[in-house]
This record gives sequence, C-alpha cells and structure tokens, in this order.
Amino acid sequence: MFKKILIANRGEIALRIQRACREMGIKSVVVYSEADREAKYVKLADEAVCIGPAASAQSYLNMPAIIATAEVTDAEAIHPGYGFLSENADFAERVEKSGFTFIGPTSESIRMMGDKVSAKQAMIKAGVPCVPGSEGALNDDPKATVQAARAIGYPVIIKASGGGGGRGMRVVHTEAALLNAVATTRSEAGAAFGNPAVYMEKFLQNPRHVEIQILADEHRNAVWLGERDCSMQRRNQKIIEEAPAPGIPRRAIEKIGDRCAASCKKIGYRGAGTFEFLFENGEFYFIEMNTRVQVEHPVTEMVTGIDIVQMQIRVAAGEKLPFTQRQVQMRGHAIECRINAEDPYKFTPSPGRITMWHAPGGPGVRVDSHAYTNYVVPPNYDSMIGKIIVHGDTREQALARMRIALSETVVEGINTNIALHRELMADAKFIEGGTSIHYLEGWLEHHKR
Ligand code: ADP
Repeated sequence: MFKKILIANRGEIALRIQRACREMGIKSVVVYSEADREAKYVKLADEAVCIGPAASAQSYLNMPAIIATAEVTDAEAIHPGYGFLSENADFAERVEKSGFTFIGPTSESIRMMGDKVSAKQAMIKAGVPCVPGSEGALNDDPKATVQAARAIGYPVIIKASGGGGGRGMRVVHTEAALLNAVATTRSEAGAAFGNPAVYMEKFLQNPRHVEIQILADEHRNAVWLGERDCSMQRRNQKIIEEAPAPGIPRRAIEKIGDRCAASCKKIGYRGAGTFEFLFENGEFYFIEMNTRVQVEHPVTEMVTGIDIVQMQIRVAAGEKLPFTQRQVQMRGHAIECRINAEDPYKFTPSPGRITMWHAPGGPGVRVDSHAYTNYVVPPNYDSMIGKIIVHGDTREQALARMRIALSETVVEGINTNIALHRELMADAKFIEGGTSIHYLEGWLEHHKR
C-alpha cells in the first residue's frame, strides 16, 4: 500500500479523500491555491503545499506544479477527486510517466470514455443499451445529417463528443432548425472543448437519470454497487441524488448492473466509475461514463457500507477487490442534498464569509463539507460547499431524516439553497418518487418569486 498520497483537488472532496487516507494509515499531501489557504483540510493535512494563485488554470489545473509537488514531498500516488484534472487523460499519462500512480483508470480508458462518440461505440460493442442516434460523429455532409435526423425522428439532440458538465448540447425540434444547430454546436464545441466533433441522439422527452456505480480491479474483477437516481437537476446539474431509484423493478436494475460490470471486464477498466443512463418507459439508455469518483458517491456508500474512495486507492495499488458481487448487499435508502452557496431561487452565486455554520446530526446523518464558522467561500470555484446525506430503513424514513437534518442546519452570512431543499423535501411529487429530469425546472417555473 502507498505510504503517501497527493490530493490534487480542493473543497469537500479533498477532505473526503484525506479522511480515507487517514483511516488507511496513509499520509496525505494537499495542494492548494492562494484562495484556499484558510481551508480546514489544508490546516489538517499532514503536508500542504501552495501551488499557485486562485485561478484554477494556475493552480488546480497546473499539471507541472502538481507533479513537482508529488516529487518534492515523496508522494507515491495522486488522487484527482472530481472535476479539475480527474478526467484529463493527458494528466493521468503524465502522472504515470513521472513514476507516480494515478488513482483512477488508465489514461487509455479515460481517453476512450472522455470522447462520447468512442465511449458510445465501446458500449454498443459491449452490449450496453444506448440512446438511438447517429453512427459515430456527424460528418460535413448536410444531406447525411438531415437523413440521420429523419431516421431517428424529431426531436433530436446535438451533443459535443468532447462535452461535459451539461455543456455542449442543443435540442432540435424541426428540420428547418437542424443544420444551424449542428453548425453552432460544432463551433461552440471547438472553442470550449478543443474538439468540434458532434453527434446526434434521439431527444428523450421525459426520462429519469439513473446511474450505476461500478468498481473494478486489475485482476479482471468488476462489481456494480447498485444505482443512483439523479433526476433532480437544474441546467443539467444534479442537486439531489438517492439510492435506490424509486419504483424501478430490481430485476431491471440487476440486468443493467450486470451489463455494466461485464463491460468493465471487457474493456479492462480499473477503478471506480459510473455508467450514466436515461431511463424512460422501462428502458435504460447509456449516455456517458464518468471515470472518477462522483459528488454523489456517498449515497451508494450509505446503502452498501462500502467505502468507494478507499476502494479506489486499493485497486490503484494493485489490490484485488475484497468482495464479490454476491457479497454486495444494499440496505435501506439514502438521499443526498448538495448545499450550494447561491441564491435558492435565482441561483446567483453567493461567495463570502460564513458567519455561522451549524451542521446537523443524529442517526443516519452524514455531512461531507469543508465549511465552518468564519470560513470564507472563495468566488473562484464551484458553488458547492457541502453535502448532507441521510440513510434510513425506508425511503420514508430517509426523507424524514433529511427534513430534520435540513431544519437543524444553520448557515449565516451567505445565501445557500437550503431553503429550496426544504421545500423540495415537502413536495408531493418528489415524495411520491420517480420524477423526471425536467421536474425541477418545471417546479421552479411554477414557484417563481
Ligand atoms: P455531460 O457530460 O455534460 O453531463 P450527458 O451526456 O451526461 O452530458 O448529459 C447531461 C444531461 O443532459 C442528462 O442528464 C440529460 O438531462 C440531458 N440529456 C443528454 N442526452 C439526452 C437525450 N438524448 N435526451 C434527453 N436528454 C438528454
């Protein structure tokens, strides 16, 4: 096992990885930007090294600075967390070439899955069901594009092969709007992702977002750890996640889970990963794979009792997964609310000093956050300041525990979306379960203030 790991991230996930290291008796080094100097996990770290100014490009995305820090601190492995460099195949490759272990899949796997066209092709080959769409990337022939859309049937969605974070997508309802939409998406994708390739998919009207968590080792073992329902989204950004997904028959989940695990073996995948699906009319449609730990990983940890971050570290060190699929047991229900520093209804970011922070507690409540009283939320990064996760024997109990947890939570000095979460936990349709990915946007329309 590694003696020392460098954490190439910030915020709650840096703290989460630090905790996993500590539990495993591994020393950790955190890198931080000037804006994160006062962060709690920086102060708690075994070692902490400032690698640059607030701007991510010069700190958390600064590959030479991160690798040089691993060298001078004698770290053996680098955990990239999520976001930043976590799905950057070039970074994974540079880490390995510099003699360190990248805690994640191989750069080849990241590259294959980071390109949505090649990811989809790999999944079709592995027998994972995908959204009907164009065969590979669209070429420059307008006639072929029009034909492809007719064959798929409107509405269609044009998606950037290199896209991510909910960006680089455009829905098209009529043939008249098609070619313009393709051209615009292509030029935006070129500018934003350095890859102008786009492809076309059937636009599913009212799907749910259901994803499968997998873990795989280098010894051709792969397991799936149940599913998560992440349909509560705004602008393609998840805000509430839960496990299991309400109302979906276990047999359907088992079938898709087994497919995902089998495809990991087929492509020689190592590490933690997530297969994201849209679920509509009883069918799963693969949309993309995330080759990293996800924000919502705790809900899976709560229902399986498996520490996903520790497993990432163990398989990166070459260990075998310590359990088989049969030994993975799901128990109860877990829900996560992402706490963002933003106006709860207008969503304008609200950085600044937290003058009062009181985290909830009690049975089945977990808080993953780097925030504290007097912590200053920097304006430079994502607005998420923490996550409240609850577990209960049933979904009802989990909902009750979340309501209590949210009622106990106090954050003063900045705006947060806690008020929105409180309302959603009392919303009849959400309580019923199984709402689609458009539900939250519709709800916000009706509850304008
Ligand atoms: P990203 O990498 O940017 O997250 P995804 O491919 O995962 O992109 O898609 C993000 C979200 O966009 C999905 O969760 C869903 O809400 C919407 N979306 C993507 N593809 C489709 C589709 N074919 N039909 C309907 N909605 C889609």
